[in-house]
Amino acid sequence: SAKQHGRNQFAFFQMQMTDDIRERIEIQQGIREAIEHDHLYLDYQPIYSMSNGRIQGAEALLRWNHPQHGLLSPARFIPIIEESDLIEDVTRWVAERAAGDLISLLELIPDFNLSINISGAALHQSSICDYICNIKQRLALPDNSLCIEITETSMITHLESSEKALRRWKAAGIEIWIDDFGTGYSSLAYLNSLSIDGLKIDRSFVHNLIDGHSRPLIEAMIALAESLSIQTVAEGIETDQQLAALKDMGTGLAQGFGLARPMRLDNLIHKIQQELNETA
Ligand code: C2E
Ligand code: MG
Ligand code: MG
Ligand code: MG
Repeated sequence: SAKQHGRNQFAFFQMQMTDDIRERIEIQQGIREAIEHDHLYLDYQPIYSMSNGRIQGAEALLRWNHPQHGLLSPARFIPIIEESDLIEDVTRWVAERAAGDLISLLELIPDFNLSINISGAALHQSSICDYICNIKQRLALPDNSLCIEITETSMITHLESSEKALRRWKAAGIEIWIDDFGTGYSSLAYLNSLSIDGLKIDRSFVHNLIDGHSRPLIEAMIALAESLSIQTVAEGIETDQQLAALKDMGTGLAQGFGLARPMRLDNLIHKIQQELNETA
C-alpha cells in the first residue's frame, strides 16, 4: 500500500541519513589520524605544453588510503572536511608535501609549475595564505613555480577574504589559476580586478567539444584569456581528437587521462627523465 511504501521510504531515508552522519563523523575524526599516520599521499597529474608536447607542470591531487575503506576520493571527503577547521590542517599538509616534491621536479625542469587546489573554506582562513607564502620563502622556491587553483564559486563566495589572499600570493610570486572555469558564477568582473594567471577550462566543455555544443564556449574562453593576457589549460582531455581541436583553437596547456593519469611522484620523475632522454 501507499502507506507501507511511505513507511519504507522513510525507513530508507533514515538509514541513509544515519549512514551519511556516520560517514561525516568517520571522515572528520579519521582525517587527523590519517595526517599523523601518513595515510594521505599526493598523486601528480602532468600538464603538457601544447606547443612542444612536453610536460610543463603538474597538479597535486590528494589521496586518502583509508585502512578500512580503501582509497577515498577527494571529491567525497574534501567537502566534508571543508565544514570544519580540519581543512586548514589538510591544506597545510598538501602544501608542505607538494612544495617539498617540487624541489626535485625543478631539478629536472627549471621552470616547472606545480599546482595545488585550495578550497573556498581554506581561502577564508588568512593563516593559510601566510603559511604557503612562508613555505615558498623557506624552501627558496622560484617565482611562478608554485601555483594555486581556486574555483570560481569559492572565490565569489569568499570574495573579500579571497581578494586579500590572492593579492598576497601574487605579491609573493605564487601563480593563481581559476579551476573548473565556466561552471561557476558567471560574473567576469573578478578576472579583471584580481590578478589571475590562467583559466582551467572545465572538463565538461572538453567532453562536449566534438559531439556536443561546447566549441563556441571554449572559443570564447580562449578569446577572453587572450585578451586578458592570461594562460589556458584544457582539463579532462581524453581523446586525440579533443587534443588536436583544442590545440588548433589556441589552448596553451593540456591535461587529461588521454595524456597522462595522475601518478605518484616517482613515476612522474621517471616520465620526465624519459622525455628528457628522448630529446637529448
Ligand atoms: P579538480 O581540481 O578539477 O581536479 C581534476 C580532477 O579531474 C581530478 O580528480 C582528476 O583525476 C580528474 N581528471 C583529470 N583528467 C581527467 C580526464 O581526462 N577525465 C576524467 N573523467 N577525469 C579527469 P580527483 O583527483 O578525483 O579530484 C577531484 C577534485 O577534488 C579536484 O577537482 C579538486 O577539486 C579536489 N581536490 C583534489 N585534491 C585536493 C586538495 O589537495 N585540496 C582540495 N581542497 N581539493 C582537492
Ligand atoms: Mg584542480
Ligand atoms: Mg579542475
Ligand atoms: Mg574539476
